[in-house]
Amino acid sequence: MIDFRFTEEQDMLRTAAREFAEEVIAPLVPQMEETDEMPEEILRGLGERDFLALGIAEEYGGVNLGHVAKMITIEEVSRVSVAVGMMLQVMHLGIEPIVAFGSPEQKKKYLPKLASGEHFATVGVTEATGGSDPTGIETTARLEGDNYILNGRKVFITNAHVAHVAVVLAKTDEKEFSAFILSKDMPGFRAGRWEHKVGMKGCDTGELIMEDCVVPKENMIGKPGDGLKVCMKAISEVGRAGMAAVGLGLIKACLEASTKFANERILYGKPISRLQGVQFKVADMYLDYNAGMLLSYRAAAMKDRGERCDVEMAMAKYYVTEAAVKAAKLATEIHGGYGVMVEYATQRYLRDAAVLNPSAGTGDIQRIVMARAALS
Ligand SMILES: Cc1cc2nc3c(=O)[nH]c(=O)nc-3n(C[C@H](O)[C@H](O)[C@H](O)COP(=O)(O)OP(=O)(O)OC[C@H]3O[C@@H](n4cnc5c(N)ncnc54)[C@H](O)[C@@H]3O)c2cc1C
Repeated sequence: MIDFRFTEEQDMLRTAAREFAEEVIAPLVPQMEETDEMPEEILRGLGERDFLALGIAEEYGGVNLGHVAKMITIEEVSRVSVAVGMMLQVMHLGIEPIVAFGSPEQKKKYLPKLASGEHFATVGVTEATGGSDPTGIETTARLEGDNYILNGRKVFITNAHVAHVAVVLAKTDEKEFSAFILSKDMPGFRAGRWEHKVGMKGCDTGELIMEDCVVPKENMIGKPGDGLKVCMKAISEVGRAGMAAVGLGLIKACLEASTKFANERILYGKPISRLQGVQFKVADMYLDYNAGMLLSYRAAAMKDRGERCDVEMAMAKYYVTEAAVKAAKLATEIHGGYGVMVEYATQRYLRDAAVLNPSAGTGDIQRIVMARAALS
C-alpha cells in the first residue's frame, strides 16, 4: 500500500517545530548573520522540545518517533534557519552510531544526556587528506593497556565546538579503521579553529583535535575494523536524510519568499505574479519541492521500516540539494535588485545553498552511489 499522508502525531510535531522556528529562531537570525555564532537559547530549545530525543528509545530517555519525525523537524527548522537545521541534523548523525551499533553500556552512558540536550553530538570522519575517501584519514589509535591513544585532526566538523560527544573514525592498524566515542572531558581532546563559511552563518563548523587523547578501550563502537561500516552507514542513511531535510526547508523558504514578493511587487500596473515568466520560476520551485519531498520522505520511511535505503537517500540528498541551489537562484531573480540586498533573505538563501553540496558527501559521491545501483 502507498500512503503519502503524515500521521496526526507527525503533523503535531511539524506544528511544534514550526512554532519553535518562528518564535525562537527567526528573531535571532540577524544576530547569527552578524556574529556567526549559535545563540545558547536555540541550542537549549532543541533539547527542551525533545527534538534531540526523536531517534532514541524510551529506555534511554528518548521519545523514539523515528526518521520521518527527524526529517519533519529538520525541514521546519531549516525553513527559518539552515544553520540551525544543519546543527540539528548533525546532532542526530552523532547519536545514530551509538543507537545502531553501541553496546548496552555505551547507550546507557551516553544516550540519556544526548536525548535531553544536556550534551550534543557530532561525527568526525573528514580530515584534510580528503573527505570523499574516508580511507585516506591519518588519525591513529594505538592500544596501550586498557586505553587507546588517539592522535589526529578532523576538519569541517559540524558542532565541533558545542558537541560534548563525538564519534570519531581512526586507524587502529595500517588498513584497519575503528570508531570511538570521544567526549570533551577526555584528556587530549579539544575543538580547534572555528571555520567561517560563506553561508549557514551561526552554524558551528570546525576542527576536532586529538593529541595523545586517552580513550578507554570500551569506548570503541563494535570491534576493531568496524569503523567504516559504523560511520558510513550513519552518514549515508542519516546524514544524507538530514541534508535532504535541510534542503527541503530552504526550497520552501525560497518558494514562500518568492510568492509573497511576486504578489506584492507591482509592475505595469499589476503584480509580477501575473507575468508568465515569473510564474514559470515559481512552478519550477513548486515542482522541485514536491518531487524532493516525495524522494526524501520515502527514503526516511524506508529507514523507519528497517529497510536498506542508501541509494534512496543518495537520490534524495542529491536531488534536493541541487534543487535548493536552483530555488535560491530563482528566488533571487524574482526579487530583482532587492534580491541581492542584505535586507532581503534571498541573498542568505543563495549563500546557504552553496554549503549544501559537500556536506554528508558531495553531489558526485551521490551520483556514484546512484550509478552503481542503476548499473548493477
Ligand atoms: C558545512 C560542512 C559541514 C561538514 N560537516 C562534517 C561533519 O560533521 N563530519 C565530517 O566528518 N565531515 C563533515 N564535512 C566534510 C564533508 O563530508 C566533506 O567536505 C566532503 O565529504 C567532501 O570532502 P572534501 O571537502 O575533502 O572534498 P574532496 O573529497 O577533496 O573532493 C574534491 C572534489 O573531488 C570530487 N570527487 C571526489 N571523489 C570523487 C570521485 N570518486 N568521483 C568523482 N568526483 C570525486 C568531489 O565531488 C569534489 O568535487 C562537512 C563539510 C562541510 C562543508
